[in-house]
Amino acid sequence: MLDLVIHSLYSKKEIFLRELISNGSDAIDRAKYLALTDKSIAPEAPEWQLTLRADATARTLTIEDNGLGMSAEEMEEALGTIAKSGSKAFAEALREGKETNIPELIGKFGVGFYAAFMVADSVTVESLRRGEGQKPARWMSAGDGAYTMDEGTRTAPGTAITLHLREDQAQFAEEWTLRDLVRRYSDFIAYPIYLEVEGKERKADEKPEERKPLNTMVALWKRPKGEVKAEEYEAFYRQTLRGLGEPLKVLHIAAEGTLEYRALLFIPKTVGMEMLMPGNKHGLSLYVRNVFIGDEIEELTPSWLRFLKGVVDSSDLPLNVSREMLQDDAVIRKIRADLTNRVLKALAEMAKEKPEDFEAFTAALGDFLKEGFHSDWENKEKITELLRFKNLKDGAFTGLRAYKDAMPEGQKAIYMLTADTEQAARQSPCLEQLKAKGYDVLFLTSPVDQFIAGELYDYDKTPIVFADKGDLGLDAEDAKQALETAKQTLKPTLEAFAKRLETTVKEVRPTTRLTDSPCCLVQDPNALPPSMRRMMEAMGQSVPEDKRILELNPEHPLIKAVAAEADETRRDEAIDLLYGQACLAEGTLPPDPARFNALVAQLMSR
Ligand code: ADP
Ligand code: MG
Repeated sequence: MLDLVIHSLYSKKEIFLRELISNGSDAIDRAKYLALTDKSIAPEAPEWQLTLRADATARTLTIEDNGLGMSAEEMEEALGTIAKSGSKAFAEALREGKETNIPELIGKFGVGFYAAFMVADSVTVESLRRGEGQKPARWMSAGDGAYTMDEGTRTAPGTAITLHLREDQAQFAEEWTLRDLVRRYSDFIAYPIYLEVEGKERKADEKPEERKPLNTMVALWKRPKGEVKAEEYEAFYRQTLRGLGEPLKVLHIAAEGTLEYRALLFIPKTVGMEMLMPGNKHGLSLYVRNVFIGDEIEELTPSWLRFLKGVVDSSDLPLNVSREMLQDDAVIRKIRADLTNRVLKALAEMAKEKPEDFEAFTAALGDFLKEGFHSDWENKEKITELLRFKNLKDGAFTGLRAYKDAMPEGQKAIYMLTADTEQAARQSPCLEQLKAKGYDVLFLTSPVDQFIAGELYDYDKTPIVFADKGDLGLDAEDAKQALETAKQTLKPTLEAFAKRLETTVKEVRPTTRLTDSPCCLVQDPNALPPSMRRMMEAMGQSVPEDKRILELNPEHPLIKAVAAEADETRRDEAIDLLYGQACLAEGTLPPDPARFNALVAQLMSR
């Protein structure tokens, strides 16, 4: 059993320090609690504290606390037996006695202490139990399953655990290693942790109260919300979470009731590019009872919220014995759902009350929301309300609600257009009829937009129509009639186009979509958007061939001229030119740019 604990339980040797410091903190918590009613237990020192004493030459590290200490019997019971937890027994006894204000002790499995043997070939524990008439005790072991005990020599109440470090673990007697580890794992232990390095003299005039502990001690998230200053949040964001600049928004959460946890979440102003890749490591840091368990805990947030930085702390989280992993998905799932809800609520509030902030969020992180729209089914409706797209009217980020509210009388659909850039969208001939009607259009121009375009069907009972797909549903009866007539009168021209462009387009038809341009390319409603198609091709995927539809404006003089052209060669040249223009209008190259250029030059010289 001991062999298992030493060699298999933990993935990192360094966590021995976290375990021993946590034990010291528990011992102080227990002493502090008992001291409330028992004067003989009250501290003589100015403060409850822990001290690390490192001696690199002797290769020893001592972890000392002035907590409750252990009597010889307690030592035998707690350290001589694996999986016996004095901390757990203490808390249970109090709970059975219906005590209130029971301190939140860290220990419960009764194995953490033995982590010391991962780095030490022998361990000595010297302790003096607090209270009247107690005698010191000493426990020694080489971690081989046996231990010895004797009377010991400790005179101050508390416990000192000395590790004789293994030869290859000498770094744990070094100042910088220890500073780092305390900052990482034990920064929020509620008592000061001091470091004394052998051979490094303390300044003669240094007063004890001027010593600086290694740890920050206050877990910001445990403090009442109203008391924490903005600077404190920011310092935490930058120093502990390594965030950049100032956060856009801080969420300080104290969940109570059936689900108890605390969290401090930061929505950043910007994120690095690597964040956009779904495979990128992400996640919040997790603390259980002020002790660091891990960062990048991906289970705590859905993947699309990976831009969040922050910590979650819960006393109820079921950890496995090594405290490296979470178990019981149910609690985690609840926390995750609750966190997601709160972030969505905060964003909705921001959109309403601080539109500038929300615009900054949209510009920098809006793609994450769109990813959420695509992947987070449970929250799809809430996320839909938060989506913003650049609009045709004034280029402002516009949500579906605002778009719908501003729709003029008679407009029956929400119009959108996918394109590679806002500029290309703005100039698309597919918008001509909509522009003439005075309808606004929302542009979908980021790569993520291409993914969600296929999932936008309607909003609040209003259909969503893509301006470059199918029928816009705008024609009055007489226009429909005119289109039917055009189909007849233009028949030979349509056939000439279809024959000339046989291999490139699927269909040629007259349209009412256009007012100024002679022709445009539109999509089959079931086809992939061209930019999506190019992206898939770039990723080396085979994309099914789907041809576009060429639409002609029967009222346009150029189309009329083509219809009237008797010379077949000239007519085909005109068809090639018009088709090339339709390609350019949507931001793609004509199929044979050199020929297109030559035709233009020829036309100009004519
Ligand atoms: P756990 O902390 O989960 O209880 P450990 O193996 O870390 O398990 O410690 C076992 C027990 O040893 C503790 O519950 C406690 O009773 C006792 N103990 C360990 N370290 C100390 C200490 N520094 N002061 C007092 N008691 C301690
Ligand atoms: Mg412990």
